[in-house]
Amino acid sequence: MNKKLLILPVIALITFQACKNDKKPAEESNATPQEVKLVSPEFNADSAFAYTKAQVDFGPRIPGTVAHQKCADYLVSKLKSFGAEVKVQGAKTTTYDGKSFQLKNILASFSPEKKNRILVAAHWDARPFSDQDADAANHTKPFDAANDAGSGVAVILEMARQIHQKQPDVGVDFVLWDLEDYGKANDETPDETTWCLGSQYWAKNAAATGYKALFGINLDMVGGGSAQFTQDEISRQLAPAIVNKVWDIGNEIGYSSYFVRIPSGKLVDDHFWMNKAGVPSVDIIHYNDNSGFYINWHTQLDNLANIDKNTLKATGQTVLETIYREK
Ligand SMILES: [Zn+2]
Repeated sequence: MNKKLLILPVIALITFQACKNDKKPAEESNATPQEVKLVSPEFNADSAFAYTKAQVDFGPRIPGTVAHQKCADYLVSKLKSFGAEVKVQGAKTTTYDGKSFQLKNILASFSPEKKNRILVAAHWDARPFSDQDADAANHTKPFDAANDAGSGVAVILEMARQIHQKQPDVGVDFVLWDLEDYGKANDETPDETTWCLGSQYWAKNAAATGYKALFGINLDMVGGGSAQFTQDEISRQLAPAIVNKVWDIGNEIGYSSYFVRIPSGKLVDDHFWMNKAGVPSVDIIHYNDNSGFYINWHTQLDNLANIDKNTLKATGQTVLETIYREK
C-alpha cells in the first residue's frame, strides 16, 4: 500500500501512544458480546493467529524467493483442504525496477455453481524493503510482514475453514493477490500503477471473462493493535451501499471501535481494481488521515509480536457475518 504524503505530526504520535497505553483490553478475542445474535459461525481468532504465524515462519514472502514459493504452495494446499476449488493465476510480470517475476494470484471458490457470489480478497506478498522504518539503515531490509499482509490472508484462511464446515447461502470467491506491495515509493502515475500488480492482472481477466459478484471486500492490515478502519474515498464513491452494509454490521455486532464511520482520503488499494472490474468493492484497511497507516507499516516492527487477536476477530467476524446474511 502506497501513500504519497505521510506526515505524522509529533503531537499526534505522542497522543496516539498515550491512547494506546490507556486503552482497556477489548472483549476476549473469541467471545462475541452476549446479546448479539449471529447468523455466522464463530470466527476463531486463535486459529487466524496461527495462520498468520504459519506465513511468517516461511520468512518474508518476497516475490522470487523460496519463502514466497513455499508459502504459495502452503496457501494452495490449505485452501484445497477446506474444499475450495483453487486456481493459481498469473504471468511473467515486470516491476517498476525492471525485474521480472512469475505473478501468482491464488483464487479459491466455494460453490462455484451459485449465481450470487461475494468476493473477498487480500494480498499475500511481502514488500521487499522496510522503507518506512525509523532507521534509514533498515530501508533496504526485508521485514516479517505479519500484518501487511499476513493478517488479511490469515483471516481469509479462517473464514474458508468455517465455510467448509457450514456453507452460507451465497457462493464465495477468495482471491489472494500477489505483487501488491512491490510498488515505487511516491509513485506519481495517476492510478499508482506500480502497485497492485496482482489485482490489475485479475481485473483485466475478470472483465474479459465477464466475472460477476454482488460485491467485494478487500482486507489490508487487519491485525494491528488499536486498529481503526476508516471509510476511504474510493470505497465511499464507488461502493457506498457496501460501505454502509459492512460498517453497519461491524457496529451492530460489537466492533464499533474498529469500524469507525470516519471518512478518509483516496487510497488506491486492490479494491480500486476490483471496482474497475465491475464489482462494487470496499477496503477494510488500518488507516486514518491523521495518523496514517498502521504504526508499524513497512517497518522492521511489522512482526508477529505486534499482531492483536482482537483485531483479527473484529475483522473476521464482521466479514463472516456479512457473508452469511447474504441470500
Ligand atoms: Zn504494504
